[in-house]
Amino acid sequence: MPLGSDYASQACSLARALEIVGERWTLLILRDCFYGVRRFTDLHRHLAVPKAVLAARLESLTEAGVLRREEPRPGRVEYLLTERGQDLWPVLHALYGWGERHAAAVPGRRIFRHVPCEAELDVAGRCPVCGAEPGPGEVEMCPGPGLAGEPEPTEPVGRALLSPQRLLEPLT
Ligand SMILES: [Zn+2]
Repeated sequence: MPLGSDYASQACSLARALEIVGERWTLLILRDCFYGVRRFTDLHRHLAVPKAVLAARLESLTEAGVLRREEPRPGRVEYLLTERGQDLWPVLHALYGWGERHAAAVPGRRIFRHVPCEAELDVAGRCPVCGAEPGPGEVEMCPGPGLAGEPEPTEPVGRALLSPQRLLEPLT
């Protein structure tokens, strides 16, 4: 484990979780999985993550039961979030919100909406209309005003993400 023995020896649940999702690139890979990116090539092109790192992350996330590897047809390998992985949605949404408030150069690039209510989730991931904290299957990512003025993406995932995208639905 790249994090070393310090984390492995800690019983704290946060340390245990970071053993699985605390490495560089991991949360961005998982974010793209929520956006419906499923293939190695698409993750590689969209994130510009080194291939060896991406391969190692996908392997450890699969081993940890966060992703599962499927081959819907010969030669096409896909990585999908398991239920365990989908449970990370509130974590990613909360961290996104923290970044919007405290770290973003340009906030408002993405908006997350509860699909049946067509309402933007609040910072706690709650729908202001129905009061639910919807799971990712009921959430849609919409491009926000913060994306305006950015150069047009040149790779297919970036271009696809310029349109609203229901989380977990395959993007390409
Ligand atoms: Zn709602």
